[in-house]
Amino acid sequence: MKEVLTNPTAGYYMNRDVFGQTGDFITSPEISQMFGELIAVWLVNEWTKCGRPTPFQIAELGPGRGTLMADILRVFSKFKIAGSDFSVSLVEVSPYLAQVQEKQLGPRQAQEATKLPQGSQHYKQSISFYGSQVRWYNHIADLPRTFTLFLAHEFFDALPIHKLVKVDQGWREVLIDLNREDLTLRFVISRDRTPACLYRLDNESREELEVSPQSLIITQAMAARIHQDGGIGLVIDYGHEGDKTDTFRGFKNHKLHDPLVDPGTADLTADVDFSALKWAATHPRTFEDWKANLTFGTVDQKDFLTRVGINLRLEQLLASCRDEDVALNLKSAHKMLTDPMEMGSKFKFLALYPSVMEKILERYPPPGFV
Ligand code: SAH
Repeated sequence: MKEVLTNPTAGYYMNRDVFGQTGDFITSPEISQMFGELIAVWLVNEWTKCGRPTPFQIAELGPGRGTLMADILRVFSKFKIAGSDFSVSLVEVSPYLAQVQEKQLGPRQAQEATKLPQGSQHYKQSISFYGSQVRWYNHIADLPRTFTLFLAHEFFDALPIHKLVKVDQGWREVLIDLNREDLTLRFVISRDRTPACLYRLDNESREELEVSPQSLIITQAMAARIHQDGGIGLVIDYGHEGDKTDTFRGFKNHKLHDPLVDPGTADLTADVDFSALKWAATHPRTFEDWKANLTFGTVDQKDFLTRVGINLRLEQLLASCRDEDVALNLKSAHKMLTDPMEMGSKFKFLALYPSVMEKILERYPPPGFV
């Protein structure tokens, strides 16, 4: 899954724009500006609850076309949060998408890694339309140490999973093998236990499941930063609470695609196990960063967006709209984002806070989650 998606030369994400009508799938920020605007307002509110610490960074994992960040920066500028108060940090593996993000976010040509000062952890930098620094990183571990608003939208579902099944002898891993007769790929069950079978499986009632060690490591890194440097995390994705079994699939031209056919030409994805992410967020890896963080959610996208005011935002936009087609588009975008039959209940929101905020959050719980 990792090779197919992010191999430097042939990886699915590495050299093309995969989003929108002409791509393979469409995401909420691409559907409507309302999505990013409401998330921005939520972030401003929660940052204010923390005492508006500056400087801070907004760090987005897997920013795609950069649309969500562009909508957020526009709202931040309306709230008069100056570009000098914060910087934008983008964790992106795809050089192609990094270029798309650069065009989306700022007027200036980015500085490439060769011209960056020695010792920089980022591989590219530019200035946004609103004057804030934008920097690109390969890994979450490379991000600067400062108060951070973390954002991950449809990021964790792209990280590799291991598939495990229970057979008579115990847990085994489902591997991918080459069928030598016709050179097609096929699933096989490992003969013996593999390292992935060491995942905590006691009290597991499912007969089959998916685990994503990389997702857990990234969540732990985010949780450790939130604990050590202050910050908040918002993770949005399709997923479950540790009860689904077989969700690994491919998407091509907006249709399901067999993941073993023509690898590299289709998106590969698996539902996010939010119960595992919550476990990781509250169990940091080393003793130095030990202190359980707080998690809120998951809540369904329709509940989050409705509670933070999507209906009001739709009304406002419709009131100032003179074009009938635009008005129809706004209404259908609202439906797509919130209808339980569309994205409303498939997508979930999870928030992470440092444990020092416990008392404040008891009095002022995060909007959208209650
Ligand atoms: N958040 C965007 C894009 C989602 S697609 C949206 O909702 O529209 C997944 C994104 O994560 C892409 O930008 C992809 O290049 C990036 N990505 C995938 N695997 C990654 C990894 N291991 N590290 C960093 N970015 C990754």
